[in-house]
Amino acid sequence: MIDEIKKCLPSGYHVYERSIQKAGKKTFAMVENPKHEKFLYVSGEQPSELQKGKRIDKGVLYPLISENAFALSQYLSYLKPRPLGVNGPSFGFGDRLGVATPGHVRSVRSRSITPVFAQQSIRELKRTKRVPEEVMASAMWGVFQEGYKKGFGADADHLKTPEDVEKVVPVGFTMFTCDPSDYVNGRAATMSSEELKREFEDIEDHTGIVNRYGDRKFKAGRLQLEFSEKELMRAVVKYYRAIKHAEKMYQIIESRVKGEFDFELSIDETDEPTTPKQHLFIINELKDAGVKITGIAPRFVGDFQKAIDYIGDLDEFARQLEAHVEIAQTFGPYKISVHSGSDKFSIYPLIKKYCGTLFHVKTAGTSYLEALRLIAGIEPEFFSRIFRFSLERFEEERRSYAMTTDISKIPNVDELPGERLPELLEQNDARQVLHVAYGSVLTTKNENGDYTFKDELMRILKEHEEEYEELLVKHFARHLAPLSISL
Ligand SMILES: [Zn+2]
Repeated sequence: MIDEIKKCLPSGYHVYERSIQKAGKKTFAMVENPKHEKFLYVSGEQPSELQKGKRIDKGVLYPLISENAFALSQYLSYLKPRPLGVNGPSFGFGDRLGVATPGHVRSVRSRSITPVFAQQSIRELKRTKRVPEEVMASAMWGVFQEGYKKGFGADADHLKTPEDVEKVVPVGFTMFTCDPSDYVNGRAATMSSEELKREFEDIEDHTGIVNRYGDRKFKAGRLQLEFSEKELMRAVVKYYRAIKHAEKMYQIIESRVKGEFDFELSIDETDEPTTPKQHLFIINELKDAGVKITGIAPRFVGDFQKAIDYIGDLDEFARQLEAHVEIAQTFGPYKISVHSGSDKFSIYPLIKKYCGTLFHVKTAGTSYLEALRLIAGIEPEFFSRIFRFSLERFEEERRSYAMTTDISKIPNVDELPGERLPELLEQNDARQVLHVAYGSVLTTKNENGDYTFKDELMRILKEHEEEYEELLVKHFARHLAPLSISL
């Protein structure tokens, strides 16, 4: 089959063998010309939905525009994302560049864990100036290229408002991560008793809540949970409005999505940890309101900083995780979701041990960092320009992240010999500097209106596609080996 396709193509074209797919009288394949531009090749009867094709010999070459990805998915159903439910663990591969999915597929292909390939938060979309269609199409093209048919999810991450929901529903996302953190009152942990009481009594349903929780003992597995008056008031003041917002978001999604979907609640981006009792309060209220969640991302104890390992007491993390799991299994079952989940090597064994198969781990920026690792090795001069730029941007970029980065610990990039630049990807502070600047690196333009870095960066990734995939496979093996089994 591959030879037949090659015969129809001009010389020098590469055919991605795994992509080749017959459907009725049509044959589909991903091909690439010598300039590293990819096309969808279709021979036989041409689907009328595909656009902007150029006829060559017996087939037609179509550009990889989003419209064509969606059209192709009408013929190849494995390109469509699906809800994951709670039958087994899952792993989110965010891809800010739109070229990492083939490497992600290879990382997960023979492991007992279900991937999410399309995953981007509204914040990331803004920073990268991408649209949800692009995110979905990039994932579909990657799945097509690798001929991956085992199914994948599509996560519209950190949705904060009903408007956010409207942006992603029409694109076919199957997982909706609701982030009500704007409604979480982080001050609840430190309020005086009087203030706490005042805030509590401000909540309309507060007498109902006291009736529902006041003298009640909740059982969750081996746990017995009972709220003291203060604990209850804290949980309510901190989360009640967020719960109401999540209910509203759920109802909007439910009314707009036909069929099943995954609904994750993320409350990870708050200052204070979510205690098991607060988790219980949240889930019990949501259940009463008819909200069916497939996952919750609590704010865990310790520090989940971007791009580096967990910082904190592992025993305490394990104890808290165990309690969260008991609640999720009793009141669900649903998954415990770990956000900022890349590079958290010290906790993966604990996640597997305590969650069993009920977990989701989310990663995003780490695939961008692997792209930079590739560039550091191939084009050191270009990499040092990206690094210096990221460093200049750092004070500004770090504001929206909680990080303890100490830039004085970073070796001077001007004094590092080229062959040692990849070492910066091993240094925590340097990793964080690079991690948070992705938006500026990918969107900054020079005075002529050309991208300062993006075009060059994408060119290198396209020319070294295999090497990028290998780096991703190697990097994610360190994540997936402790979390899943090899099939
Ligand atoms: Zn998150």
